Order: sequence, then structure tokens, then C-alpha cells
Amino acid sequence: MKYRKRSANDFVFKEELGHGSYSTVYKAIDRHDPNKIYAIKVCSKDHIIREAKVKYVTIEKNTLNSLARGNHPGIVKLYYTFHDKDNLYFVLDFAAGGELLSLLHKYGTFNDRLSRHFTIQLIDTIEYIHSKGVIHRDLKPENVLLDKEGKLMITDFGAAATTTLESKNGMESNMCPTSSFVGTAEYVSPELLLYNKCTASSDIWALGCMIFQFTEGCPPFRGSNELKTFEKIVELDYLWNPQKCDNNSIKNINPMVVDIVRSILVINDNDRVTISNLKQKMWFSGIDWSNKASIWQGIFT
Ligand code: ATP
Repeated sequence: MKYRKRSANDFVFKEELGHGSYSTVYKAIDRHDPNKIYAIKVCSKDHIIREAKVKYVTIEKNTLNSLARGNHPGIVKLYYTFHDKDNLYFVLDFAAGGELLSLLHKYGTFNDRLSRHFTIQLIDTIEYIHSKGVIHRDLKPENVLLDKEGKLMITDFGAAATTTLESKNGMESNMCPTSSFVGTAEYVSPELLLYNKCTASSDIWALGCMIFQFTEGCPPFRGSNELKTFEKIVELDYLWNPQKCDNNSIKNINPMVVDIVRSILVINDNDRVTISNLKQKMWFSGIDWSNKASIWQGIFT
């Protein structure tokens, strides 16, 4: 069949799902197949140029295109891109379950079952992203979307970087060539703040902040402004909820979760736990990481 370039006329645009700094996202139905429901991200060309966002849009498109080849369930899939006089359009998987952050706000904190479920899917997806030489650089619960069954999809690759393999002390590590501050203050890694350095391990740092947030309801490092947040990060100044602690020992929090967070929130990225060591942690005992079907189950019944 001859390939035909899609256009906005191929879709029936429904309600607005949300908007970001340079785009508005709509639910849309394929005019030729009403069973196909998408989220279409519409970016105004004028706005992108005026706000100097061309670089971010290009990175997002190229990264999503390259990651889509692996068909990984944890990455929001980009089906088509096209443009007209006024806008660029990204046709994406529709995440019917909305943002992970909204679910967390709804519950306040996640119980152990939900935390573990999302953490396992995040680990599997981050491992996949890194295996493709990509660092997301802005992992946070707003950038994790859910399908209707509660399977997650990582989105928003506008800050992503591709890596070069660097050899340090005989060890290979994924680094981006140069880094300036991108991302969100609460999840930014100490190596970025201290040395303008960003590695695959910086995504693991953000994962640690998210695991803490699942249990505690808020991220570990939060100051009254960005600078104070940064100070807390580089001083590793975070506390578990005092109501759950007694005489400096942490009670009522799963010790396996505390162990994982402690092994991730380590200032020196060379000493931080790696994805492969993380997968061996007690909290994940019984998980067969090679069995993708068991990892990629839903959680909403
Ligand atoms: P920014 O670009 O400023 O970082 P953002 O990433 O939230 O913000 P968008 O990617 O444009 O911006 O998304 C806007 C909103 O649309 C999101 O907050 C989310 O609620 C919703 N949304 C985005 N993608 C999808 C999707 N694939 N399915 C369902 N809803 C989506």
C-alpha cells in the first residue's frame, strides 16, 4: 500500500487534555478507524520560534522516533508527525489514566503494592532508554502517564540527551557531552549542580526522588525557592516523615524501600546504585526481569 502522509484532517479533534509551555494536547479519533484513539500534541510554530523552543521540539521528535523502534511499552509511542501553515502535530499514544502525579495527589501516598508496581515499570523503561544511548534528564511524576489499566508510559523527551560512552577508571559510563541546568529543581542531580555533568545515573537519582515521593507524598528535596532546593540536594538534606520515625529509626516505612532510596540518593554518581544492582534488591525478589509480560501488567482492576 502506498504510504500517505497524514494531516490534521485525518483526525476528529475532541477535548483538550492539557497544555505545556509550547503545546496543547487534544484527544483525537482516527477518522478512518474510530477504534483508534490518540493524543495529539499541537505546537504553534509562531510560539515555538518566539519562545526559542525549536531545539526542544526537535529533540523530542527525534528521541521519540528513535525510541519507538524498540516498541517498548514504557515509552509513549509517536505514530505520526505532520505540520501545516500554523502548527506542528505529534500523534501519540493516548494515556487514558492521566499523569502519575495526579494519581499520587488523589491518594496522598501510594501503598507498597502501587509503589512497587510503578517502580518496577520505571526501572524496566529507564534501562531501555539508557540502552539506546538516551538520558531523559527530566524524570518526574508529571512526565509519567498511565494507560487505562495503570501501565505507565514515560513522556516529555524535550530535555533528553544522547550519550557518549566515556571510560573512567576502567569503567564505561554514559555521559552527555556537556550539560547545563535542564529539568525540574526537585529532581535534579547533585552532579549537574556541582559539576555541570549529566550521566545515565542522573536519571536514577530522579527515580530515587520519585520512589521517596511515592511513599512520602512529596519529593525528598524541596526548599522555599529553587536555590534552597539545590542547597538541600548537594547537602543530601532530606528527612523521612518524623511521624513515621522514632528515636532516629524509621518505623512504618518498608525497610526495603528505605534501603533502595538510600542506595540511590548518594552524592557521588560513581557510588550510586546502578540499574542492574537495583534489580537485585530485596523489594523486587520474585520478579523475573526477563519476563516482560509479568512486568507489564496493569494495576487498576
Ligand atoms: P512542558 O512542555 O511545559 O514540560 P508538559 O510536558 O506537561 O509541559 P505537554 O507534553 O504538552 O506539556 O502535555 C500537556 C498535558 O497534556 C500534560 O500535562 C498531560 O496532562 C496531557 N498529555 C500529554 N500527553 C498526553 C498523552 N499522550 N495522553 C494523555 N494526555 C497527555
